[in-house]
Amino acid sequence: MTPVRVGLGYDIHRLAVDRRMVLCGVELPGDEGLDGHSDADVALHAVTDALLGAAGLGDIGEHFPPTDERWRGADSGDLLRMALGFVRKRFAIVNVDLTIVGERPRIGPHREIMRARLADLLEIDGERVNIKATTNEGLGAIGRAEGIAALAVAMVEEQEAG
Ligand code: MG
Repeated sequence: MTPVRVGLGYDIHRLAVDRRMVLCGVELPGDEGLDGHSDADVALHAVTDALLGAAGLGDIGEHFPPTDERWRGADSGDLLRMALGFVRKRFAIVNVDLTIVGERPRIGPHREIMRARLADLLEIDGERVNIKATTNEGLGAIGRAEGIAALAVAMVEEQEAG
């Protein structure tokens, strides 16, 4: 059987004033951010779910339930690192591709630092990480800038046992 597996991650968080805007572990400037139990880093949540999915390890809500006070205001980078610990017992990351969907903020100026930060968190080469951004063309809730969504795909490779 082929030793590579893929996983898909999706997440969405509401935009809110007086919240921090943290994407891929990078705090972006501005007077609005993402609402949520943790730091609401929608991008890292999607990546975490993609990795857990690829490894067949369920989802982020199962490992870090929002009802658990331990994760209030949690740094999503910490959650990702913990998930990575489970994933890497059997798998190595081949690559991660991420798409952020939102009307604002503009991702372009921050893309390279976000990519470097994500690669750092994943402990892989930046060349294995790709970040894309698109608007929703004004359509629906995301188009009305009520929130930001993120989709991620991760490929992992099974490591030789023992
Ligand atoms: Mg989330």
